[in-house]
Amino acid sequence: MDCIFCMIRDGKIPSNKVFENDYVLAFNDVNPQAPVHILVIPKIHVESCDKINAENADYVKEIFLAIPQIAAKAGLDKGYRVITNCGEHGCQSVKHLHFHIIGGTQLAEKMC
Ligand code: AMP
Repeated sequence: MDCIFCMIRDGKIPSNKVFENDYVLAFNDVNPQAPVHILVIPKIHVESCDKINAENADYVKEIFLAIPQIAAKAGLDKGYRVITNCGEHGCQSVKHLHFHIIGGTQLAEKMC
């Protein structure tokens, strides 16, 4: 499959990995929008937030269990933002579900 995040998961494209377990992989975003910008993905291909269902929900649960650990490791003790872009209006550019962890500075209040 022609999915860049599946290729990262499979080691076919290099990434700067910050966390990994059986369900979840996290790596630094190649184009960071803040001092800390980490992407957290499920190790199975799920296209977007819209495709979360009972069969793949365990992966999503594991992502949210991993996020506090990833944030702590990244030193985000003052807080951070977790975002997932979904579909065209959400400006999703990579069609593999991912959650952005953004922080390391005071973020803007505005979300859109
Ligand atoms: P989104 O626009 O929500 O789909 O986010 C996709 C994110 O993936 C963007 O922030 C990109 O900078 C990031 N990205 C794309 N290719 C790579 C890559 N090879 N390694 C790390 N991050 C990437």
